[in-house]
Amino acid sequence: MSIMVPSTTPALITPGRQALDSALHQLDQAAEQLRLDDGLRTMLATPRRSLTVSVPVRREDGRLDVVQGYRVQHNVSRGPAKGGLRFHPSTDIHEVTALAMWMTWKCALVGIPYGGAKGGVAVDPAGLTTRELERLTRRYVNEILPLIGPEKDIPAPDVGTDEQTMAWVMDTYSVNAGYSVPGVVTGKPMTLGGSLGRAGATSRGVQIAALAALGGSPEGVTVAVQGFGKVGALAAQYLSDAGCKVVAVSDVTGAVYASSGLDIARLRAWAAEEGGVRGYRHADALARDDLFELDVDVLVPAALEGAITEANAPRIRARLIVEGANGPTTPQADEILAASGTTVVPDILANAGGVIVSYLEWVQNMQAYSWSSGEVELKLRDLMQGAYSEVKSLAAERGLTLRQAAHVIGVGRVADAHRMRGLYP
Ligand code: NAD
Repeated sequence: MSIMVPSTTPALITPGRQALDSALHQLDQAAEQLRLDDGLRTMLATPRRSLTVSVPVRREDGRLDVVQGYRVQHNVSRGPAKGGLRFHPSTDIHEVTALAMWMTWKCALVGIPYGGAKGGVAVDPAGLTTRELERLTRRYVNEILPLIGPEKDIPAPDVGTDEQTMAWVMDTYSVNAGYSVPGVVTGKPMTLGGSLGRAGATSRGVQIAALAALGGSPEGVTVAVQGFGKVGALAAQYLSDAGCKVVAVSDVTGAVYASSGLDIARLRAWAAEEGGVRGYRHADALARDDLFELDVDVLVPAALEGAITEANAPRIRARLIVEGANGPTTPQADEILAASGTTVVPDILANAGGVIVSYLEWVQNMQAYSWSSGEVELKLRDLMQGAYSEVKSLAAERGLTLRQAAHVIGVGRVADAHRMRGLYP
């Protein structure tokens, strides 16, 4: 059976709806491999809880704006729900549902005891002052308060949010509880119970996955990175530190290219100062989306969903794609890439470093204890490399792509949890 969910009007096929269609397609393929029965497939295709909230925000000039916010808990069969909080103008309930579903498979794949969730607010954070952002965050948290908590659902940073946002989430929740609850959120500042190694964890995981997939020496391997935010900038940095030659990066403002390799630390400083990579003087300017067609060994999409589609996939020359972003490759593009022999290390594996160290942060919070950066990195490496080996072996054994194998493992573990728990009542 193919998985059906209620659809929106055809005229309203948003990027979010496309992301959800991709996620459902991937689930469908895994369910076929696992021979899941129709009832279980439908349960896994539909979120456990979805909350839509209206968030009123008082602007500095006195106006009142109202924006839509969402929190979706896709699955909690293996533990509390876990997933990022996104502030982006085009976020919608479909996108948040897709991202929550990917979180469920990701946590199961890397073997951490969480279900999957995601939150979003349809707003452009760049258009708000810090005080407006704080008011928006606190009001949104207040609206979703019944859903979240250290044993229920634990948000973390995603696109458009950062450790300051997480500090406001922690404070709003704690004020309501009447005591400090650091474990309600991860990706916090160190002073509030954040973990060493969390800020760079997703990017470190991307580096670990890329080096595992490359096999041999990274020395001189050429890399292009789409997205120069929290994940992309540090992924570029860590790959460069490992000996790769990062020749191009892009962000929403543009793209830059240097055939001899970019000085990533210098470019990060420029982007932080200027608000983007555009105009960086020590490299050539490149049309933003031409980055995908460069003759490089490795491509790291680290921006948003739907970056690699049937339109640009035939022109991709990289032999390895390591997905820092969630859902950057559409199923149609996946088929084109598989046919051309391009290896794709899928999002639920490649970017799992973030949720792994979020889990470590939460464990430290629950024990009121903290680990050294060495201990955190060792655990991260261990879980990433273990998951990579499992996915690689299953893919080879069954003739699957790495994405298909990763989904078979992740979905299979969640399906097992449902079977063992049984159905209440
Ligand atoms: P971010 O907001 O810090 O950065 C996003 C970056 O993408 C920015 O540099 C932005 O300019 C760029 N961008 C947006 N549209 C673009 C376009 N069309 N072309 C090129 N660049 C574009 O977000 P982030 O936290 O780095 O997240 C990036 C991706 O990684 C998302 O898919 C997110 O879900 C995923 N992810 C993030 C984490 C995390 O810990 N932050 C963990 C796992 C996965």
